[in-house]
Amino acid sequence: MISFYPGPSRVYDAVPAYVKKAHRKGILSMNHRSPEFEALVKKTVALLKSKLSIPANYTVFFTGSATECWEIIAQSLVRDHSTHIYNGAFGEKWHAYTKKIRPAAEPFVFDAEMLPEAGALKFPGSEVICFTQNETSNGTQVPVPMIKATKKNNPKALVAVDATSSMGGVALDFTAADIWFASVQKCFGLPAGLGIMACSPAALRTTKEVNERNHYNSLVLMAEMMEKWQTPFTPNVLGIYLLKSVLRDAKPIRRVEEQLTLRQREWVKFFSASEKFQLLVRNPEARSATVIAVTGDSRHLERVKADAKRNGFLLGEGYGALKRDTFRIANFPALKKREIRELMKFLIPYT
Ligand SMILES: *Cc1c(COP(=O)(O)O)cnc(C)c1O
Repeated sequence: MISFYPGPSRVYDAVPAYVKKAHRKGILSMNHRSPEFEALVKKTVALLKSKLSIPANYTVFFTGSATECWEIIAQSLVRDHSTHIYNGAFGEKWHAYTKKIRPAAEPFVFDAEMLPEAGALKFPGSEVICFTQNETSNGTQVPVPMIKATKKNNPKALVAVDATSSMGGVALDFTAADIWFASVQKCFGLPAGLGIMACSPAALRTTKEVNERNHYNSLVLMAEMMEKWQTPFTPNVLGIYLLKSVLRDAKPIRRVEEQLTLRQREWVKFFSASEKFQLLVRNPEARSATVIAVTGDSRHLERVKADAKRNGFLLGEGYGALKRDTFRIANFPALKKREIRELMKFLIPYT
């Protein structure tokens, strides 16, 4: 079965061998206070920075998931007021989780087909402005220049970006925001259970000022521990080792992005030529590079999904309210050109 699910998604073929190697090298029982662990974290952070072009002065943290990052931001960076700019289910969830911790969290909802004007995104009372850069549920994206403009237009606020399904696939300009996070079961081609968060010096200053220390994952505590390449809790050591291993094999992010952009164009061409399928997102500027959302008659889609599964292709279900009316195809780096061709060939009779 080839998984085209946009998370958890296809893992790299090398993963089973890396797991075996981890076992052989004692990684599976590695103590998280040992010098070996510190060296592993240090190396993994260095690889993340070099392969993804994360600025040297950003601090990288390891968490359990992207969802955990939502809570960390609400707890440790927002005192009262955050703003959540979104058009889909993940952005909405982020707002909902934040609201439970900081009730003044405000939504700014925009249309999936129409990106807001950057000039309209001014939130004077907001301490943290939150973007879902790649909305996995509906296959839309927010261009990074818009995020950058928002940061410039709101100099007092921090900007936080959920890049869960784009980091590792798209070349992100990390200077455009203060907090970026993702989890590894999307573009990194790894099993779930590890989140990555990168914070600017300004974000670290704020977390020290806020000085929230009530949680095991309070960011100020995590920052103190990360100074010695450690975490407050026992982290997913195997996950970190696997991340290090696949990053070492990875091409620089610009090259990865080039390849994914070409593949996305092929998918767009494929579905644009179809009678029975339509791309869910018509505005090319708003369309995600890494998640292709396809719509059509729900009975037809149901048949396609079921037949695909019987033929060894796992398509992504529609998400939330879009469950029956869409399917999603991951355009993640671990998928092979040959696998994409095979899926296209399978889909042709249904177009
Ligand atoms: C998958 C996803 C999440 C949730 O990730 P977890 O690792 O399950 O917490 C959050 N935001 C976006 C945009 C996602 O695609």
